Amino acid sequence: MSELNPLLEQWSAAFGLPPFERIHPEHFEPALRAAMASHREELQRIAKDARAPDFENTLAAFDRSGRMLGRIVAVYENLAASATSPELQAVQRRMAAPLAAHRNTIYLDEALFARIDALHRRREQLGLAPEALRLLERVHLDFVRAGARLQGADRARYAQVMEQLAELATRFAQNVLHDESSWRLELESEADLAGLPGFVRDAARQAATERGLDGHVFTLARGHVIPFLTYSQRRDLRELVWRGWVSRGEHAGESDNRELARAILRLRREQARLHDHACYADYALADTMARSRAAVQALFDEVWPRALAAVQREREALRAQMLAEGVSTPIEAWDWRYWAEKLRQAQYALDDAELKPYFALDAMVQAAFDCAARLFGLRFVPREDVPVYHPDVKAYEVRDADDTLVGLFMQDNFAREGKRSGAWMSALRWQNRNAPQGGAELPLILNNNNFARSAPGQPVLLSIDEARTLFHEFGHGLHGLLSQVRFARLSGTQVLRDFVELPSQLFEHWLAEPEVLRRHARHVRTGEPIPQALIERLQAAQRFGQGYETLRYTASAIVDMAVHSRSEAEPPADLCAFEASLLAAQGVPPEVGMNHRLVHFQHLFSGSSYAAGYYVYLWAEVLDADGFEAFREAGDPFDPQLAQRLRRWIYASGNSVEPGAAYAAFRGRAASVAPLLRKRGLADVDAQPA
Ligand SMILES: [Zn+2]
Repeated sequence: MSELNPLLEQWSAAFGLPPFERIHPEHFEPALRAAMASHREELQRIAKDARAPDFENTLAAFDRSGRMLGRIVAVYENLAASATSPELQAVQRRMAAPLAAHRNTIYLDEALFARIDALHRRREQLGLAPEALRLLERVHLDFVRAGARLQGADRARYAQVMEQLAELATRFAQNVLHDESSWRLELESEADLAGLPGFVRDAARQAATERGLDGHVFTLARGHVIPFLTYSQRRDLRELVWRGWVSRGEHAGESDNRELARAILRLRREQARLHDHACYADYALADTMARSRAAVQALFDEVWPRALAAVQREREALRAQMLAEGVSTPIEAWDWRYWAEKLRQAQYALDDAELKPYFALDAMVQAAFDCAARLFGLRFVPREDVPVYHPDVKAYEVRDADDTLVGLFMQDNFAREGKRSGAWMSALRWQNRNAPQGGAELPLILNNNNFARSAPGQPVLLSIDEARTLFHEFGHGLHGLLSQVRFARLSGTQVLRDFVELPSQLFEHWLAEPEVLRRHARHVRTGEPIPQALIERLQAAQRFGQGYETLRYTASAIVDMAVHSRSEAEPPADLCAFEASLLAAQGVPPEVGMNHRLVHFQHLFSGSSYAAGYYVYLWAEVLDADGFEAFREAGDPFDPQLAQRLRRWIYASGNSVEPGAAYAAFRGRAASVAPLLRKRGLADVDAQPA
């Protein structure tokens, strides 16, 4: 059987890519089981090594182990996120617990931990190079945080908790996908489509065609929902879409996430208790830059009252706009974006439909590549000959200024059935110079977006937010591609989670630079660069609606922190009521709401990497706003010396340097919160006229 399994073969395609066209869902379970068994053997050889533990025979060997499993899991997770099927989902449900159990056998292996712990206790006397010392500290902490120090019954219970959490996270994500894909709004008449600009109609017509339907289909993909809420003149339909959107995960029946989220919270609290933390947030924050709930709260305190004041002012302005148009109904949640867009057009004569012809997807991809060229000397060369998992995926080999091959970059830009919502970066392989066969491995990096497809033959046009998302994910992609470390564990984006959004959010700044816009934001029909007056209006409008965006984001971050900060054994009996009362206590107007409700908050419950960690975007924004200020101070957005320091300390160093030290090495000092407040227009919020 195994010789017929393409996942277990040597992958001989270019860049060592897998033979995607021959990989089917039924290959995963046997391949994963075989790769786990072989990883266990590798680990046993390290754990039972007769030689005394040293860095090479223990840490470097550990870092080299499990590569076969790693490459199969990477393919598995990428397909599950981007091109799933009922068969693959069934494999996921079966394999979540065995994969979690495998993780437990690694991190709860006493003999293996004893060797690592012995080295860790003598770490200062080992004469290690800085990156090797960092690996020892990192891996030791990975073991401790995965329960390696637990004894007896606690140890066994910990393993059970982790397996159950993995299973529940898989089900949570599948439930959200179910609710998204089982909902659709089919519209036919002009009256139903009133207010929707051409690009929104085109995307909906395309979605209908893909489903073999006539007319227009709107789904709960973000690329459908946000434009619908922004433009539709049909208040009743806006309400329908809004209700579908916010109630994902809250439908009684098979896909209900309410009890599932409670079960996850109960297990996380138990996990934290086993580590002697009072609550899950304390456990999660112990391994971050922030380090404590108090530090996160201090950041919320800087932002929250300013955002609340800003949103009140924005609401007054919306009211005035409504009254001016003779509308006196109260503003509901499904009205806000619609009236905000009208106000934005009135104040800045700026509407997405006018802007979008300047933001063709292909041009924005080239803009991102060009910024990477000007900052870091990179070149992106299309490779249509390499295997990819879906025809939407475009592959590029990446070359450095001296023509050295850097890695492979793959971009999968379109929403489709079987692909989860949102945008993300992932890796099929991390850069490292510790390959089992010796030498180096180049990174294979992916970006996924969920842009709506255009009608056949029509160019795909992005909103400014979507173009920003493209740059954001590309920033993560560069963090993966530019990595220059020895050890795989320290490579690319595998950094502390409140640092990981710095390279991505920082990269967004270049999109807003006038010289980048003049060069790349060209009218899709005429090729004319975006007019200076439009750039100025764009910049003037940049802070428009920031109260709304900031409040919605921070509300979600506060709810995340609150629900994970409880020390009681039982989670709130009714999570929706808990969420509602917290929002009310915080003074969030119901018509503003939050980015993600708990019942579909995939950051928190489809895995644990953002649990008690949704704040990280804001934390990193302090860094990116302050970091980009360095280029302003230099008077050149592509200042070569700064770009060089940026590459070395932020994009290339992975987790090989403590992040605070890496940032200070780039910036010359620690970060200040003031540029963030200025960027969001919240710095002098009280002094601004209403
Ligand atoms: Zn990100």
